[in-house]
Amino acid sequence: MLQTNTAGTSDYEQAIAEAKAAIIAKMTLSVGKDPGYATDRDWFVATALAARDRVTHRFLGGKRASKADGKKRVYYLSLEFLIGRQLTDVLYNFELYDIFRAALGDLGVDIERVREAEPDAALGNGGLGRLAACFMESMATLGIPAYGYGIRYDHGLFRQVIKDGWQQEFPETWLENGTPWEFLRSDVTYDIRFGGSVETKTVNNVPRFIWHPSEVVHAVAYDTPIVGWRGSNVNPLRLWSARAADPIALSLFNKGDHVGALSDQARSAAISKVLYPSDETAAGQELRLRQEYFFVSASLQDLINRHIRIYGDLYSLPDRAAIQLNDTHPAVAIAEMMRILLDDHNLRWDEAWRITSSTFSYTNHTLLPEALETWPLPLFERLLPRHLQIIYFINNLHLEATKKNFPNEPELLSSVSIIDERDGRRLRMGQLAFIGSHTINGVSALHTDLMKETTFRDLNRVYPGRIQNKTNGITFRRWLQQSNPGLTKLLCEVCGEEVLDKPELIKRLEEHADDPALQQRIAKIKRANKVVLCKIVTDRLGFRVEADSLFDVQIKRQHEYKRQLLNLLETVALYDAIRSNPTADWAPRVKIFAGKAAASYVAAKLIIKLANDIAKTVNNDPSVQGKLKVVFLPNYNVSLAEKIIPAADLSEQISTAGMEASGTGNMKLALNGALTIGTLDGANIEIKDNVGDDNIFIFGLTAAEVEERKRAGAPTATDNIAASPMLRQVLDAIGGGVFSPDDPNRFKPIIDGLRSQDRYMLTDDFDSYWAAQRRVDELWNQPEKWTRAAIVNIANMAWFSSDRTIAEYAEQIWKVPV
Ligand SMILES: *Cc1c(COP(=O)(O)O)cnc(C)c1O
Repeated sequence: MLQTNTAGTSDYEQAIAEAKAAIIAKMTLSVGKDPGYATDRDWFVATALAARDRVTHRFLGGKRASKADGKKRVYYLSLEFLIGRQLTDVLYNFELYDIFRAALGDLGVDIERVREAEPDAALGNGGLGRLAACFMESMATLGIPAYGYGIRYDHGLFRQVIKDGWQQEFPETWLENGTPWEFLRSDVTYDIRFGGSVETKTVNNVPRFIWHPSEVVHAVAYDTPIVGWRGSNVNPLRLWSARAADPIALSLFNKGDHVGALSDQARSAAISKVLYPSDETAAGQELRLRQEYFFVSASLQDLINRHIRIYGDLYSLPDRAAIQLNDTHPAVAIAEMMRILLDDHNLRWDEAWRITSSTFSYTNHTLLPEALETWPLPLFERLLPRHLQIIYFINNLHLEATKKNFPNEPELLSSVSIIDERDGRRLRMGQLAFIGSHTINGVSALHTDLMKETTFRDLNRVYPGRIQNKTNGITFRRWLQQSNPGLTKLLCEVCGEEVLDKPELIKRLEEHADDPALQQRIAKIKRANKVVLCKIVTDRLGFRVEADSLFDVQIKRQHEYKRQLLNLLETVALYDAIRSNPTADWAPRVKIFAGKAAASYVAAKLIIKLANDIAKTVNNDPSVQGKLKVVFLPNYNVSLAEKIIPAADLSEQISTAGMEASGTGNMKLALNGALTIGTLDGANIEIKDNVGDDNIFIFGLTAAEVEERKRAGAPTATDNIAASPMLRQVLDAIGGGVFSPDDPNRFKPIIDGLRSQDRYMLTDDFDSYWAAQRRVDELWNQPEKWTRAAIVNIANMAWFSSDRTIAEYAEQIWKVPV
């Protein structure tokens, strides 16, 4: 029961009154507007500022406490933090959501509109960046003192617009009007140096290296508080913004060169303008390396300052700090740490190396050869001459030791060396990260096994025992509790309120999997979520989809290995089959796609056009009305994911086996009751192990079979196509211009690619995928059985909470108590 205070109003009502007063005060005094004239955005800012005040007290209190008790801190270095909108996260995790909704309601304002007025912080590209965001939330929840370090991009990733079916890129302007969440820390500014030369001096018979850089840029800190569940703890996400050391060349300006006077400013500020500038040009490549060093150097200077301030010297750094490298993007940190210890603090090499290699750990996210980062030596030397010296030194010691331990295997050296001698000599950041870290982790059981067998096989022999697995996870606060309140309410009723703190209690749902009443409730919740998505489709695309259809969802970055194309081939085959056999038991489907392609990725952009061209044909064909629709929702981001995922019936996870390191979209969808159709790849395997073979649709070659076929070179794509009349018909239709009558040859490159090379083995898996989709139809036509399978999925997803993942990192990699 709510308590009543002496004034006669309940605590709850008083809390609402306080929230109302706080919002109005912010509206008047901070936004500077009369509430009568406020826009939705004004309400968002006022509400966010009122919420932020609550956070700030906890934030500062937590910082004082962890400083006082000398706890080990975790530093998570990532080029991406895909945090999305913050308002609901903050209010919900502080258990203020209902209070603020009521307060706004009393003011005549719908909180839903206020939420929508917040721009997405699109500081990431996909799964890797979203993982960093989920991890920050879980670290706060588990009370681990942590800093996230990254870049405060003015524009993040681009905004995707679909024009005539083609992807177009426009700058994302999330910071246009500032953001109420961050605190500018002008006093936390560091010099970041680039270029120049290195002078060698001998002092007391010891060689010293003095770097004379040719350029200095300032890194300025902005802190965004990340709130843990139930407000338990608040950690900073510290993002660096680039500024010129001299904002204006006054002498040039006074000579009348007003543009030239600002050119240094523009060159410096470019560093924190956009995520993933195109690296097709040399200038683009250089900018990318400048970004990486910029945020790494600022972050290390910052954490070392903090350590020295509290503990006095650097010898104890490994006991007080754990630095996690999210992929190789921040791997230059190994060299930067050594430089700081050797040159700025005069430590001996062995001592510096001991500190460095017992502080760092590295997460590998991909084994695709084209995605493993390397830098041309001349570029690296021009930008970071001292770091290249240090890397050569690290490499020499490493190769000497390897030679000694493996005297009969000289060929081992070229594989474990940091320098790739082929291809014009390049620095391999994966090798550097591996050699400089005490622990290297993969992100799913399969991916970790493949790491040991392929890319890092030899390094794993030289440094055995360093590789561990940490299967990814997702935060249930955002991906269940906030995005699917209907399902959350039911889970609280059936499994008990404690389920919000102990996800393993979701398992209790399974006891009721056969209960028709529960099945009906689950189906009703799903349907309500689908109605919300239907409205989004109508608003954004201008046509209707039926909530009673099967919502078949593939939402993720557009990439050939993820095989959106395989899904499109099946869509065309289904379209043909429905037309030839209209009375068969097809499950009525809406195929839903969303995802961005990298701006320079021509093949992926053509596949987006294909999806849109197929959609146009299918959606306008009356003969498949009510049976098939195709939807491409533009500008996939966290907020759109939060709407699509609770509404999904089927989750497409169909990458070529061995290529998706983990996936996390697969986890979000299964947790929300979508059944997975997927290959035995990444975390799909662990999802299958948890939900059981009967509650997932598995198809296609295994990773081992993929390797075997590649080795054997057979069967070829030609063989596969010859063996499948249906596939041949689909390829002929697309290649012959059935979906592109305005340009019949438009998709020829796609079809020719499949016929000649088929790098991602679509023709090998097509028939098996088709058969799995028909098993989907069959189950969909038995609604009780379908819902039962959905219930079993939800009930068995607790292990995929990022709280579990982070607890494993804490215990086994970082050695911090939880
Ligand atoms: C979870 C998520 C991803 C990752 O999806 P995958 O299917 O694992 O590739 C990408 N983008 C956004 C916005 C996400 O929320």
